[in-house]
Amino acid sequence: MSVPFPFDISPSRPIPRQLDQLVWSWLRAVPFVGLHLAAVILPFFVAPTWSAVGWGVLFYLLRMFGITAGYHRYFSHRSYKTSRPFQFLLAWLGCAAMQKGPLWWAGHHRQHHKHSDREEDPHSPVFRTIWWAHVGWILSGRYRHAPPLRDFERYPELRWLDRYGSWLPGLSLAAGCYLLAGWSGVVYSFIVGTVLLYHATFLINSVCHLLGSRRYETPDQSRNCWWAALLTMGEGWHNNHHHYPSAARQGFYWWEIDVSYYLLLGLSRIGLVWDLREPTLKALTARHTLLSQQKPPVTLEDQPRHIPVSTINAEQAHHYLG
Ligand SMILES: [Zn+2]
Ligand SMILES: [Zn+2]
Repeated sequence: MSVPFPFDISPSRPIPRQLDQLVWSWLRAVPFVGLHLAAVILPFFVAPTWSAVGWGVLFYLLRMFGITAGYHRYFSHRSYKTSRPFQFLLAWLGCAAMQKGPLWWAGHHRQHHKHSDREEDPHSPVFRTIWWAHVGWILSGRYRHAPPLRDFERYPELRWLDRYGSWLPGLSLAAGCYLLAGWSGVVYSFIVGTVLLYHATFLINSVCHLLGSRRYETPDQSRNCWWAALLTMGEGWHNNHHHYPSAARQGFYWWEIDVSYYLLLGLSRIGLVWDLREPTLKALTARHTLLSQQKPPVTLEDQPRHIPVSTINAEQAHHYLG
């Protein structure tokens, strides 16, 4: 008598790919969900201390800098240059945010820019849903392997960190938090701080393609969102960024606070980074667009979930190219 699928797991019948993906997605979710549960439950048992909160704020800022200035502006867009040791330090700081390795992160981010808000975009809230863009794409198991990042794969230390050691900076930080502030340090400086880092970073993928203003008529739905920029040290100026992705700054005007850029400027003064790329005058003064004057404001409720790709491209390309 044959055993019905999925209970037959004999080697002669390989597990279908769909089941394999399902199992992988659940396994991958365990640490992520576990960290969230710990961030919610452990504060009932471990009291915060000022020391733990202070270290938590410092490590949040340092790790966010690793993501914004390191993973994003350096590894994804090469918007400035630095030395090989400092390049590794940026990769280490980014890994400490527990968002996988620099090659994986930047490889997928380049895909986002190449196919923004189209089917091949890994995390478009316009083509799919806000949930998918926020966390669903990471947990889905579809994006275990990133497209090759040939310009950085040639560094063996980055390949090693990305493939085998991406958990090491985070675990080292957890141990450091214990030494600095005891169990309160582990809970508040590391666990709660890491979960806050996750969702602040993910806001750029989800909210910054749905809410906010559009200064430039880019062929995607990227938006400038001031409060997301404050939480992420400058990443919320996302419409500016999609308009001119290779710039080291994302706040184009003095009132667009971009702390990552200010820190990069400071590092350039002492010679740790150099050749920061600035948006050209032509890019800054490109035809500005007040979307609200052309179309009714888009809200989360009426945001279409599956816009035909051809419609987006034709319409947006018409505006963009004038
Ligand atoms: Zn984007
Ligand atoms: Zn980018």
